[in-house]
Amino acid sequence: MDIRIGNGYDVHALAPGLPMWLGGVRIPSETGFVAHSDGDVAIHALCDALLGCLALGDIGHLFPDTSDEWKGADSKILLAKVVALVHEKGYKVGNVDITIALQKPKLAPHIARMREILAGILGIGEDRVSVKATTTERLGFVGRCEGCEVWATALIRS
Ligand code: MG
Repeated sequence: MDIRIGNGYDVHALAPGLPMWLGGVRIPSETGFVAHSDGDVAIHALCDALLGCLALGDIGHLFPDTSDEWKGADSKILLAKVVALVHEKGYKVGNVDITIALQKPKLAPHIARMREILAGILGIGEDRVSVKATTTERLGFVGRCEGCEVWATALIRS
């Protein structure tokens, strides 16, 4: 059995009146993410972690933000394409762990739904999908509600 791990990191800026998608869930919020796609920064970091496992670059490389094809794209579709790539290479997802840093709104009520949606796309049990959320105690750009930062780790196995 071959085991590989990867990490991913992404940031998106927040602006008023835009939709906020995180982990495949529409979060009720006065602000949302500035992005070419739907701006789901959690899924983007997760995609990069999976691509990192395979040393296949990053999602910007796979789905260029200069392409109209990915304008307003549902990030769940991007993740499904990355998972297909993992399977094509002869691996399956072992587990993933995601940490979201966002000052507001509170994400706790949405974590279970994120895990359910991501597990479905990844083809694994929810007990293998960890999603954690934190504020930054009002420090830095996250604390000033200027953006959201996400770290993801993925393990895949043959
Ligand atoms: Mg992104």
